Amino acid sequence: MKIHFLGTGTSQGIPILGCTCEVCRSSDPRDKRLRTSLALSIRDKIWVIDTGPDFRYQAFRARLPTVDAILFTHAHKDHTAGLDDVRPFNYLQNKRIPIYGDAQTLQQIKMEFAYAFDGPPYPGIPQLTPWEIEPYVPFSLHGTEVIPFSVMHYKLPVLGFRIEKLVYITDASFIPEASWEYLYEAEVLILNALRKEPHLSHFHLEAAIEVVRKARPKRAYFVHISHLMGRHAEVEALLPPPIHLAYDGLEMAL
Ligand SMILES: [Zn+2]
Ligand SMILES: [Zn+2]
Ligand SMILES: [Zn+2]
Repeated sequence: MKIHFLGTGTSQGIPILGCTCEVCRSSDPRDKRLRTSLALSIRDKIWVIDTGPDFRYQAFRARLPTVDAILFTHAHKDHTAGLDDVRPFNYLQNKRIPIYGDAQTLQQIKMEFAYAFDGPPYPGIPQLTPWEIEPYVPFSLHGTEVIPFSVMHYKLPVLGFRIEKLVYITDASFIPEASWEYLYEAEVLILNALRKEPHLSHFHLEAAIEVVRKARPKRAYFVHISHLMGRHAEVEALLPPPIHLAYDGLEMAL
């Protein structure tokens, strides 16, 4: 399995429009963060987790040759707004793309992209096949087992995913007891960490470090990062092993 961080920023991305803070003005490419999304290359198939507003440019930048499936964590716009831009992949691949999400997420996507689901097909619309999934009910995707589990984004349940030795969690502020077993013995744990100060709906840096200490993965990478976290190089230097800040374009095999 290979993973590619398509985006590692929080909902506004970095730089934030109009902001002149030192992070938003940084010339370090690792301080430029598109909205959080991951591409996974697994047994010759490419899956994407979430299609935020930057999806088109992210897919271009990562040179994704195909998109064979999309997994959604939740329906917030910074995770779904780019879904319309899968159309070229429909055209190239000449097939529908399966999208996976919980009932609430799929309901919202069907409302916001109704033209892709309702009525007679219009030329050039996205061709999607929705598959409803539930936390704690594993499913097989292209022959690989995916285990969705529930995490809490303040009061909104969000799906985390266990895929072989990878654990992916974004937009969480709390991990329910029933989900912990899916975090253990991971090679790579990807987890949201918004900023240094506490936040209602996201783990802040110390809380995310606590999750890593308990889960004990071989490596951990933080995503969904705000400009309030500070400059990449400075924060990275403070993190205890095996924790890193992810950055856009980071790739690894596991
Ligand atoms: Zn988000
Ligand atoms: Zn800023
Ligand atoms: Zn969210």
